Amino acid sequence: MSLDKVLVTQMLVGPDRVFSYLVSCPASRAAVLIDPGGDPEKILDAVSLKRLDVRYILCTHGHADHLYAAAALREELGAMVCMHEADAAFFGKEGSGGAGSPFPHIDVRLKEGLILSFGRRDALVIHTPGHTPGSVCFLVGRHLFTGDTLFVGAAGRTDLAGGSLDELLDSIREKLLPLSDDTIVWPGHNYGETPVSTLARERRENIYITDFLMEDE
Ligand SMILES: [Zn+2]
Ligand SMILES: [Zn+2]
Repeated sequence: MSLDKVLVTQMLVGPDRVFSYLVSCPASRAAVLIDPGGDPEKILDAVSLKRLDVRYILCTHGHADHLYAAAALREELGAMVCMHEADAAFFGKEGSGGAGSPFPHIDVRLKEGLILSFGRRDALVIHTPGHTPGSVCFLVGRHLFTGDTLFVGAAGRTDLAGGSLDELLDSIREKLLPLSDDTIVWPGHNYGETPVSTLARERRENIYITDFLMEDE
C-alpha cells in the first residue's frame, strides 16, 4: 500500500442528488466526510462498512442541499463541521443547528490555506468564491473536491445570493488551473458526462475554461 494513498468513496445523496464523499487514510482509517447532502443512514452504513473514524465534516459551501445530513451526522459521528467563514457569516447561522434547521453548528471556520489532518493525510482548503462567497475546494493528495465551483464540463451557477461570475472565473483561473494536470476532479453534482474527471480533461473540454478563460490569455 503506497504511503500517499487516499481512498475516495463517492455517494449520491439527498433530495437534490448531491455527491457526498468519504475520503480516508488507509493506514489509520481516519477520514473526512465532504458535503453530507442527505441520506444519513446511507452515509453511516458506508462509514461502518469501511470502519472509518470520521474526524471532520467538510462543507464546500453553505447551501442547504449540501448540508441536510450535517447536523445529524455531527452528532452520530462526533465529527467537527467545517465551513468557510464567508459562508458562515453569509447565512448568519452561528449557533444554529436546532430542530428543523438544515444548518449545522459550525465548529471550525475555514480560511484559505488551512490544513486539516486526518491520520497521515491532509485536506488543504482552497478558497474559491463565486458560487457563494465562502465556497471552497478541498485538495487531498491529487484529489480535488470542487463542490459547486467546478463541475465536469461546467461550473456552478452564480445567480443566487452572493454569487459572482467574475469571482468564480477568477477562482478557477487563479486557484484551480495552477494545479497539475493529473489532479482528479470530484464535483458536487453529477451534471457531467462522467461522475469524475481530471484537470487535464477539464482544461480541454470545460466551456467555462475553454471559452471564458483561455481566450483572454
Ligand atoms: Zn450550491
Ligand atoms: Zn449544489
